[in-house]
Amino acid sequence: MNDTDRMAGATHLECTATGEHFDSEQLIGLSPAGKPLFARYDLDAVRPGFAMADVANRRADLWRYAEVLPVRDPKARIALGEGWTPMIDAPRTATRLGVRKLWIKDEGQNPTGSFKARGLCLAVSRAFELGAEALAIPSAGNAGSAAAAYGAAAGLPVHVVVPTDTPAPILEEMRALGADVQLLDGLISDCGRVVRQGVEQHGWFDLSTLKEPYRVEGKKTMGYELAEQLGGRLPDAIVYPTGGGTGLIGMWKAFDEMERLGWIGSERPKMFTVQAAGCAPMVRAWEQGVDHAEMWQGATTYASGLRVPGAVGDFLILRALRESGGGAAAVPDHLMAEWVAKIGKDTGIFAAPEGGAVAAAVPMLMDKGLISPDDEVVLFNTGSGLKYVGMTPID
Ligand SMILES: *Cc1c(COP(=O)(O)O)cnc(C)c1O
Repeated sequence: MNDTDRMAGATHLECTATGEHFDSEQLIGLSPAGKPLFARYDLDAVRPGFAMADVANRRADLWRYAEVLPVRDPKARIALGEGWTPMIDAPRTATRLGVRKLWIKDEGQNPTGSFKARGLCLAVSRAFELGAEALAIPSAGNAGSAAAAYGAAAGLPVHVVVPTDTPAPILEEMRALGADVQLLDGLISDCGRVVRQGVEQHGWFDLSTLKEPYRVEGKKTMGYELAEQLGGRLPDAIVYPTGGGTGLIGMWKAFDEMERLGWIGSERPKMFTVQAAGCAPMVRAWEQGVDHAEMWQGATTYASGLRVPGAVGDFLILRALRESGGGAAAVPDHLMAEWVAKIGKDTGIFAAPEGGAVAAAVPMLMDKGLISPDDEVVLFNTGSGLKYVGMTPID
């Protein structure tokens, strides 16, 4: 991968609200405008050795896309087997839902059993490369265990702040991975406040969703994988369980990069956000036709990845839904659980409630005419059902 190593790394960071540029060779959080930063690359320089065919025989993890990732030093690229998850053809679920073709991208097969591994792999690798000495993260669960795993692999201490009702298997996992775990009687937003105190008092580096630039870079690799795994095209519709929205925002970013790299044309899938009926700030904002989502009060759902009452990247999520001709739907917990069972029986995948949620949303989106029976659909199962053992639906 010698050429790859020479080409890797961003040219600069760009504020997603103002377009202002910033140096990428520093530990950094949000832009001065308080908005997420995106890494930008010299795609014209990368393009000659980075066609889809060049990547085809590379290592089967997300580091196969090193030219469009921010980590320069190969020794800083922490690897536990993240990414390159299977796209599982699910004809029985397709028939059940009444669509022509359906795949499940099974992100439950990532290290630590969820797709949080992709984002934290990149965020921790880059923070390590730039000299961070201690990491911290507020989490609804899965982000905390992914941070714990990559921190352990990098040899860095990780402080995780999670709500007391975080699934027990995830708490045990974080502790086994050596993290300092603080439990808080509150939501992920309250946990964020404790992390900010630690940042000020102890110099921890904050790995919160979209509050550093690189988790989204890890998550965007799902977009590259879709194109590779479908032989150079994209599906008609992507249905994504949305908390902070990093994966949806990341894939949307990836499609633009891929077009400029010549991997795809100007076509885009319809992007769909699915949230829990008990915590649906993005769905509400989508239905109201506004650009920013207000905080959701009294968030409840057993899908802990969706228990996110507010997202700093709200405007980026809503923009992707709108520009793609997609939409949003909210699903009550009991339907998530029903669809976890149906997917399991149909496919052999033990999905997380979030994976059940996206399947449950398809009939709702078809009723509204947003997904058609003729569409090829990809559902994201973002985690393994094993991480939720003992949790039961709330509504
Ligand atoms: C975090 C999480 C989500 C939401 O992901 P975002 O990219 O933050 O929107 C969905 N499913 C699971 C299992 C999660 O852990």
